[in-house]
Amino acid sequence: MISAARLKILVDAPPRAEASYVLYWMQQSQRAEFNPALEYALEQANALNLPVLVCFGLAAFPEANARHYDFMLRGLAEVRRRLTARGVGFVIRKSPPHDLARQLAADAALVVCDRGYLKIQRTWRAKLVEGLDRRLVQIEGDVVVPVEAVTQKHEYAARTIRPRIHRIWDDHLDQLESRAVRRRADHLTITSDVDLDDVPKVLAGLKIDATVGPVRRFVAGEGAARARLEAFIADALPRYGAERGKPEAGVASHMSPYLHFGQISPVEIALAVRRAPASDSRASYLEELIVRRELAMNHAFYEPGYDTYDILPEWARKTLADHAGDPRPHLYGRAQFEAAETHDPYWNAAMREMLATGYMHNHLRMYWGKKILQWSAGPEEAFETTLALNNRWFLDGRDPNSFTNVGWLFGLHDRPWGPQPVFGTVRSMGANTFKKFDADAYVRQVATLEAAEQG
Ligand SMILES: Cc1cc2nc3c(=O)[nH]c(=O)nc-3n(C[C@H](O)[C@H](O)[C@H](O)COP(=O)(O)OP(=O)(O)OC[C@H]3O[C@@H](n4cnc5c(N)ncnc54)[C@H](O)[C@@H]3O)c2cc1C
Repeated sequence: MISAARLKILVDAPPRAEASYVLYWMQQSQRAEFNPALEYALEQANALNLPVLVCFGLAAFPEANARHYDFMLRGLAEVRRRLTARGVGFVIRKSPPHDLARQLAADAALVVCDRGYLKIQRTWRAKLVEGLDRRLVQIEGDVVVPVEAVTQKHEYAARTIRPRIHRIWDDHLDQLESRAVRRRADHLTITSDVDLDDVPKVLAGLKIDATVGPVRRFVAGEGAARARLEAFIADALPRYGAERGKPEAGVASHMSPYLHFGQISPVEIALAVRRAPASDSRASYLEELIVRRELAMNHAFYEPGYDTYDILPEWARKTLADHAGDPRPHLYGRAQFEAAETHDPYWNAAMREMLATGYMHNHLRMYWGKKILQWSAGPEEAFETTLALNNRWFLDGRDPNSFTNVGWLFGLHDRPWGPQPVFGTVRSMGANTFKKFDADAYVRQVATLEAAEQG
């Protein structure tokens, strides 16, 4: 049984007796295993002796470009292969997702969907609900603890949400077995109009920014995600606690692109990490994966203006405004930042890693963003620049984590610190950041990563 805390009935109607399938509209949880929405659809279908049809509507997503679509489509090609092998139908069409789901709902006994926290994801679900004459059940599968089970309000900081999550996370860390399929979907003849066997051709036919191209560093799909996770747990997890502040040490898990596209479940990751011996490393990884990540979900879910400067804490906006006129020894605009052309070779290396590979270590993301604040004409401009670059170049961009962490640079979920020019009492980050790790080794690594992308 899928836990009741993950389940929300969006349209309450009895399942239709006359039906060809149970429909799962896949959107956030783009995976064929460890997907509670899919397993719930299978449970329902097995009880009704029907097959499951999974549909995916390929539509415009704010700020998504060829880098993002390439990764997503390759992941979906694997989803289709795995579903077909399991006997589950899969259809993908160029369509607003809610329109495709509504169309296919006409032959469905009931409809299942997954959950996302961004505005567009919530709007799509709300549009499907309008006038739908089928049972619609939402299953929340991309967080460990469902957002409304953690708290009913916007949390102030990690320290306020942490005890709430810790109190109940064991209740939500359940293994999820794949259900056997009672009725296979092989006989369904519903056709796709997107050819997942030719991703470059699909990309060429989309109206998207093609100047931000695919990356080689991350192989898309749940198989690649699991392989990376296993390698991380075996090789790097033991050092994660001590060395996660060192970008050149290679101890990060690189799970964020996979989590962003729902290609791996955070519960699956957490259970795998918890099988490792107890240690500071294990605790510190679970802190990032669950507490920090789910604080971001809380922010996106309970703060409708999560993508705007105006919702930042008042103390932070006030102190930044008070210091907006402070002299800035270095001043750049978006074009110079994006070209990695500042006076700081370490900052430039971090920006080049992001441009070439779609990824940057957490510690460097902090430095990268704090410096944009310090070297921009004003805080609002810095906020816009950081968010735009973050969402354009990171493979894991456009995520609740993106908006929340960019907000953190400007005081969100933080407290006042000792005053500094430009920052006021918002936390600053200085050149001593690079004294704590081998920054030159990092710069050499970036050159190697860039060469690998070109080669
Ligand atoms: C300015 C700035 C911008 C950021 N932008 C994004 C973004 O666009 N998308 C994104 O997913 N993350 C973002 N982060 C959070 C974090 O840097 C990345 O999630 C992390 O670096 C991803 O690498 P990893 O998977 O190897 O991390 P690991 O260190 O291996 O951590 C494992 C997982 O824990 C979560 N996690 C780790 N650090 C954080 C954190 N500080 N806050 C919330 N969750 C965390 C992520 O889901 C991550 O995949 C940003 C952080 C900063 C400071």
